[in-house]
Amino acid sequence: MIEELIVGLGAIVGDRHVVTGSDLHGIDPGFHPENLSGAAAVFPADTRQVADVVKICSKYGVSIVPQGGRTGLSGGAVSKAGSVALGLRRMNAVERCDPLAGTVVVQAGATLQSVADHCAVHGLSVGIDLGARGSATIGGMIATNAGGMTAFRNGTMRNRVLGTEIVLANGSIVTDLTEVEKCNEGYSLTQLICGSEGTLGIVTRAVLRLTTEPTVTSTTLIAVENAHAALTILRAVQKARDLTAVHAEIMWKDYAETVAAALRLSGIISFANAPAYFLLDVAETVEDGLLDLLSDLNVTKAIMCKSESERADLWRIREESFEIDRQVPNCEWFDISMPLDRIDMTLAGIRQRIASIDHGLRVWAMGHLGDGNLHLTIGSGQPLSDLTKTAIADAVYQGLKQIGGAFSAEHGIGIDKRASLIKHADPEKLRLCRVIKKAFDPENMLNPGKLI
Ligand SMILES: Cc1cc2nc3c(=O)[nH]c(=O)nc-3n(C[C@H](O)[C@H](O)[C@H](O)COP(=O)(O)OP(=O)(O)OC[C@H]3O[C@@H](n4cnc5c(N)ncnc54)[C@H](O)[C@@H]3O)c2cc1C
Repeated sequence: MIEELIVGLGAIVGDRHVVTGSDLHGIDPGFHPENLSGAAAVFPADTRQVADVVKICSKYGVSIVPQGGRTGLSGGAVSKAGSVALGLRRMNAVERCDPLAGTVVVQAGATLQSVADHCAVHGLSVGIDLGARGSATIGGMIATNAGGMTAFRNGTMRNRVLGTEIVLANGSIVTDLTEVEKCNEGYSLTQLICGSEGTLGIVTRAVLRLTTEPTVTSTTLIAVENAHAALTILRAVQKARDLTAVHAEIMWKDYAETVAAALRLSGIISFANAPAYFLLDVAETVEDGLLDLLSDLNVTKAIMCKSESERADLWRIREESFEIDRQVPNCEWFDISMPLDRIDMTLAGIRQRIASIDHGLRVWAMGHLGDGNLHLTIGSGQPLSDLTKTAIADAVYQGLKQIGGAFSAEHGIGIDKRASLIKHADPEKLRLCRVIKKAFDPENMLNPGKLI
C-alpha cells in the first residue's frame, strides 16, 4: 500500500522529489533526530501539488507532517512510521515586496534570512529575528508563532502576519492573503493557524507586514545584580529621546561563564564578577547618548564594544546556548515567560525548588529580557530518571500560571510539552482546542500526536 502511495506521490511532484528508505539519511534531519523517520519525505513545488499530496495521503490513510527548516525545538516536526513528511523547501520564493505598502508576499518555505535579505534592499525588515534565521522558514515560524529577539518591540510572528494561504486536511485551499492592517471579516483563520504547529493546515503562502529597524550603533555588556537592575536600565533607555533599545538580552553568571569558557571568550566577561549580565544593543542619535545615561544611573561595570568582532563575540556567548549541552550532557531545557517585574522572584523560586530535588542539579539561565522569556537548562551531567525529570518540570512550572506567565513561551508544544499542556492548560480551553482540531481535521491526518 505504501508502495502505491509512493508511486502516486511521484506522479504528483516528480519521482526525484519523493525520498524514501535509506535515501532519507541523505537529508539533514535538523534539530530532532527523528524528524525524518517516516515512510517518505515529499517536496511539492506549489500549492496545487501540496493539495494533491494531502488528498492522496488521505486516500491511503497516511498522515502528514508539515516541515520547514526542521529547526523547531519541541519535536513538532517529528515524523514516524505511517506518516509522510511534507517539506516546503521548493516553495521558497519571495514573490513580491512592496516598500510603499510595507508588505511582502512569500511562499512558506522561504527562510527568514532570505526574506530579510530581500526586504533589506528596500531598507525594510520583517521585524523578527532568531538564531536559526538561515534555516527556519516563514511557514514554520507562523506554525510555531516564533518569537525571538525583537518580540519586545515588534511582537511575535502572529503580530507580523497579515494573511495566509492554507491547505486543509481534505485538500481544499483557503486563500486569506489579506494585505491590509484592518480586516474584520469574522473569525481570523490566519491568527488561528499561528501556533497551530501543522495540526490544522499547511501554510503555503503568507503576507507579512514590514517595519523599519533601527540601526545598532552601540553594543554594551553591563554587569547587573539581577533582572530588576537590567530592566531599570532598559526602561530608562526606552524613555530617552535619543536612544532606541534594539535588543535587550540577559544572561545569568553560570550561563555566561560556561558558554564563554567553552568558546574561549572568558576574557570578555572578566571585567566583572557579576550575578548577571545585560546585553544591550542601542541605536543612538547623539554620540555617547548611552554612556551619559549609564553614568546618570551610576552604572560603573560595563563594556562597550569597540569593534564588530568584539560585538560578534559577545553575541556568540548569548546565542550559542547549545554549548551548555556539549559541556554538560543530559540536561532538561525550558522556555518559560513571566511578567517582567516577577523575573527575579520566579527564578529564585525555581532555583530553590531545584536545589531541594537534588543539590547536584545546576540551573543555567538566560533569555529575552525585554519580553520576560527565559531559557533554562537544568541538569547535573548525569542521566536523569523520569521521576527526576518530572520533578524538575514541576519545579520550573510551579506558580507560573498564577502570576500570568507561560510554561511554553516561544518554542511551542510539539511532542515534548504535550503532557505539560494537558496538565497545565485550562480544561475548557483544551476541550475547545480539540473541537477546533476536529472541525479542521476530522480524520486526524495532519501532524497527529502533536500539540493537542
Ligand atoms: C539555534 C536556534 C535558535 C532558535 N531561536 C529561536 C528564537 O529565538 N525564538 C523562537 O521562537 N524559536 C527559536 N528557535 C526555534 C525554531 O527556529 C522556530 O520554532 C522556527 O519557527 C521553526 O521553523 P522551521 O521552519 O524550522 O519549522 P520546523 O522545525 O520544520 O517545524 C516546526 C513546526 O511547524 C510545523 N510546520 C513547519 N512548516 C509548516 C508549514 N508550512 N505549515 C504548517 N505547519 C508547518 C511543523 O509541523 C512543526 O510542528 C531556534 C532554533 C534554533 C535551532
